[in-house]
Amino acid sequence: MRTSDPSPKNKYTPPRSRNITCIVLHCTSAAPHFGVNDIDEWHRFRGFLRTNIPSYAKNKKNLSIGYHYVVNEDGTYSIGRDEIEVGAHVKGFNKNSIGIVLCGTNKFNDKQIKTVISLIKELMIKYKLEPKDVLGHYELDKGGKTCPNIDMHAFRQQLV
Ligand SMILES: [Zn+2]
Repeated sequence: MRTSDPSPKNKYTPPRSRNITCIVLHCTSAAPHFGVNDIDEWHRFRGFLRTNIPSYAKNKKNLSIGYHYVVNEDGTYSIGRDEIEVGAHVKGFNKNSIGIVLCGTNKFNDKQIKTVISLIKELMIKYKLEPKDVLGHYELDKGGKTCPNIDMHAFRQQLV
């Protein structure tokens, strides 16, 4: 007698993961020097609040930030929410996505682009995603948004 169901539906999924189907790219639409703490303040003002912060979260200090990663002006990145937490960055698609924000409005420097590409590539491997699963905010929100002010078709070519 079969003791386990071999169908993919019942495949074991580790408890510390979320079903991620896309990565969403944003920009802060602010001067590039504004970083993770500033964004946290803006998001607190908008009423965002992290609930169920896991004990192992690397950032337990910023209680409101809606993004998972912040790519800073100097090319480093800061951690916002833990990947296990549902973000607050894209209406209707938060549950199954990771949100990354580039600091700046529409001109991002080479260090930032290099960092965001390597970060996205790591996440693509981790969550078995393809370039088509990496989307700009404007591609998911048809309300006239331009965020992150990057040509995503050209950007995705760099992820192949
Ligand atoms: Zn956005």
